[in-house]
Amino acid sequence: MSDKTERTFIMVKPDGVERGLIPEIMKRFQRKGYKLVAAKLMKADLDHVQEHYSDLKTKKFFPGLCKYMSEGPVFPMVWEGTDAVKQGRILLGETDPLKSLPGTIRGDFCINIGRNICHGSDGVDSAKKEIGHWFNKTELTDWKPTENAWIYE
Ligand code: UDP
Ligand code: MG
Repeated sequence: MSDKTERTFIMVKPDGVERGLIPEIMKRFQRKGYKLVAAKLMKADLDHVQEHYSDLKTKKFFPGLCKYMSEGPVFPMVWEGTDAVKQGRILLGETDPLKSLPGTIRGDFCINIGRNICHGSDGVDSAKKEIGHWFNKTELTDWKPTENAWIYE
């Protein structure tokens, strides 16, 4: 395996969960060849979500964003593999679904920027921070999928 192995934090937002899109979003990462390291269904309280989005706290949309993210269940996940952070953003599409190409998660399944169904880390450092914010160390599973022998040269 390449030395650019990374972990990224991907989270199905409440609209994605309510619309039954957890399997669809997981499928995109699985079929690409990434390894699932952690996943759980949970309801996050407002404080937890505000901390997750703390970089955006001066933005006008911050209160509405945090309210929506804390009012329904979310499905946080960790996916691992070569270049996983950047590739995860590519699988997601643009922040604005209307600017996202068909074939991407946001391009295929949503319309409004405020209901864009899925979060993905924007860098290796933010991924580390987000994984630590949403998961305990014991929830991160260390395993070697046998299929990796057919995914990596
Ligand atoms: N968001 C919004 N209005 C905006 C910009 C962002 O409601 O004008 C929401 C949207 O759900 C987005 C989240 O805030 O996914 C975080 O914004 P960011 O710029 O980090 O976009 P992302 O990294 O999710 O693509
Ligand atoms: Mg972001």
